[in-house]
Amino acid sequence: MPEGLEAEIWRSALESVVGRTVTAAWVDERVSPSGFVDAVVGAPIVGVRRVGKVVVLDGPDIGLHFGMTGRIVVDGVAPIDRLQYSSGRDDPSWDRLRLYTDDRNVPAVRFNDPRRLGRVSIDPDLSVLGVDFTAVTAKRLAAAIGAREAPVKSVLLDQHAVAGLGNMCADEVLWWSGIDPHRPASSLDGSENGALARAIRQRLPVMLRRGGSHRGTLSPEVRTACPPCARDGSPLRRDTIGGRTAVWCSGHQR
Ligand SMILES: [Zn+2]
Repeated sequence: MPEGLEAEIWRSALESVVGRTVTAAWVDERVSPSGFVDAVVGAPIVGVRRVGKVVVLDGPDIGLHFGMTGRIVVDGVAPIDRLQYSSGRDDPSWDRLRLYTDDRNVPAVRFNDPRRLGRVSIDPDLSVLGVDFTAVTAKRLAAAIGAREAPVKSVLLDQHAVAGLGNMCADEVLWWSGIDPHRPASSLDGSENGALARAIRQRLPVMLRRGGSHRGTLSPEVRTACPPCARDGSPLRRDTIGGRTAVWCSGHQR
């Protein structure tokens, strides 16, 4: 499932369409607002940015919301050719959006989504999102999650609290900061909030450089096999927290 890290990879790839003008568009009307094509054709693409897991093409003001299996193909090239737990096939019948620019024959942007749980929007309201994962500090994290009684794992997944973390990155930063994912977010003290903020700020860029949210210590292979913890050899455990699978170490995560 795409997380903020995958959205960042796509944002970076979409830099290459900045400066072009949308000359034609096709959209799957089941996942787009009415009037979408009329709103975007003719608009120059003046920038691209990412907020949480959402990528925005400024100018036509298109929001790309990736859902469970959405991905982007730019000028015929997929920046991420295969998502974990998703098909590696590129079937054009799964396209939800095709943007053509400057009268080129190949779509400049294809939004391809086999399960169709993602969507495209116009001028999305991103003010409802919490602090972006790249901007987390101990103070901002405490302000965002400190009053919440829900398990810290669930609160980290709430995009209104912290924007951009998905299931694998949330487990990863809790593992690095030694915090039990079941604990109420409000129970974290100042040093624990600091450790968690540090893990978010330091570990996620490492995973980004390695290729995305599946490149952490708790990789998909580790999540499936649950071998002894790489830090202390304790058994890794797999629980369901807030309806999502949490993988964590019963030894050093307290
Ligand atoms: Zn451990």
